[in-house]
Amino acid sequence: MEKVAIIGSGCAGLTAALYTARANLRPLVLTGTQPGGLLTTTTIVENYPGFPEGIDGYELMTRMQKQAERFGARVKFGRVEAVDLSRQPFGLTVDGEPLEAESIIIASGASHRHLGLESEHKLENKGVTYCATCDGALPLFRNQPLVVVGGGDSACEEAMYLARFGSIVFLVHRRDSLRASKIMAERTLAHPKMKPIWDSAVTEVLDVKQDKVTGVRLKNVNTNAESVVDCAGVFVAIGHVPNTQLFNGVIDMDDAGYIIPKQGRATNVPGVFVAGDCADRVYRQAVTAAGQGCAAAIEVERFLAARNG
Ligand code: NAP
Repeated sequence: MEKVAIIGSGCAGLTAALYTARANLRPLVLTGTQPGGLLTTTTIVENYPGFPEGIDGYELMTRMQKQAERFGARVKFGRVEAVDLSRQPFGLTVDGEPLEAESIIIASGASHRHLGLESEHKLENKGVTYCATCDGALPLFRNQPLVVVGGGDSACEEAMYLARFGSIVFLVHRRDSLRASKIMAERTLAHPKMKPIWDSAVTEVLDVKQDKVTGVRLKNVNTNAESVVDCAGVFVAIGHVPNTQLFNGVIDMDDAGYIIPKQGRATNVPGVFVAGDCADRVYRQAVTAAGQGCAAAIEVERFLAARNG
């Protein structure tokens, strides 16, 4: 039986692993399908303290994992398919295998939000993608017009990255100004390849009949006027949804599915704690996730000490 199982291997999960490992709890980290979490799909991280020149997201997560492993954390690749929190020890099913744990830290993060269009779904991986760093360099996008949807930091980051490869990058946003941080917004809009299209929503990704992306149909949200922009790729960067479906009806969450901690990092189930983007609709930063992972680990340590004497 595990003393502590950590669900998720992003900043929150690996920091929790580091702290629980140093407390001699030999944590088991269950990576999920994206080891290292969403940060591994980013290029340079410039706002994680301690790296004045910035650090590659994948490199940062690899270092976090090594640091946790150095103190005895075990990292297991696998997807948690089911949890039973009605008994103690808790039950987990990981890729079909049962596992028991005295305590759990949920650090399952968040996934890319989709536009919710049928055409988007049908053309996913055929020109529609949610990760410029993963797919931007593919030959089909080289020297082609590309569309990025969204107005936050993610959209700016994706657009800047794609400007290396595409002939022009259309930044389609449903408002008339970006929501991104000032520095990111200014940098993005100043790029010579960037062409913002304001007040516009994507209503259809073209062309399902050809089984590839040839453009997007847009609607101006003020005038309802329709237009078509030709492009070879559509990069959707419109935020995230928390990965908490596994805990529906058992762990308290808000209407959007973000887990609501009861006190500190504790949830409504004693012995189950939460950290990172799956419980944070406000800050959602690598460093805040890491901080919450640390807090959750300290609370687990106290919970187990009180329970086991
Ligand atoms: P976000 O800040 O929530 O922005 C999402 C954007 O997508 C908003 O502009 C939103 O429009 C738009 N949007 C949402 N749903 C949409 C829909 N159905 N159709 C069209 N547009 C839609 O998300 P994010 O950019 O992923 O950033 C998340 C957090 O991570 C933020 O705290 C951000 O600062 C942080 N982050 C930081 C960095 C960095 O510092 N390097 C990089 C990436 C992310 P509205 O503006 O109209 O709501």
